[in-house]
Amino acid sequence: MVVIGIAMLQGARHAHMAAIQRAAAELSMDIEIIELRTMEDLETHPIDALMLPGGESTVMRLRGNDAASQLLPSLYEWMRENESRPVLATCAGAILLADPQDGGEPLVDAEIDRNAFGSQADSFESSLDCGFPGVFIRAPRFGEVRDMVECTLSGEVVGVRRGNRIALTFHPELSDDSRYHRMLLEACV
Ligand code: GLN
Repeated sequence: MVVIGIAMLQGARHAHMAAIQRAAAELSMDIEIIELRTMEDLETHPIDALMLPGGESTVMRLRGNDAASQLLPSLYEWMRENESRPVLATCAGAILLADPQDGGEPLVDAEIDRNAFGSQADSFESSLDCGFPGVFIRAPRFGEVRDMVECTLSGEVVGVRRGNRIALTFHPELSDDSRYHRMLLEACV
């Protein structure tokens, strides 16, 4: 049984849960999804992998650093303990990995610029160079990338990887291709 923790700070959490369930069915894998809201949730439920959804990074920082939650510092600590721990971070989640703003080292080594694809009205769907259907919503943009390139859109990096950590600027949970959620599960075995 593989245990996947999902940060319930904000964003399309239920779409991610559905995508993880679909990926597990495709891989015939036995999984359990743990909803993480506070540091205690992580302490009491050892997880094998972490799903960090998008949303609004400012709101996620506020909620995750709130004294009652402290989820964000505990997730950073969990990730930093070992870079082979599987993590899938999307959109605002990718911003948190590239720019944790906690005084510690970034979780992926890449510059990231919030909202650099434009406002909500500039949100778009476009096929990535690998054929994946990319849904971009008030998406950030990577600048200089010093980690591995995971995927590109017309040659521009839209996904970065360090070990089993993947940071994507788009929303794979809003397409019906479960490739990235499968990668998260496959990295657990
Ligand atoms: N614009 C958001 C931010 O800066 C990210 C958007 C998203 O996650 N869809 O945090």
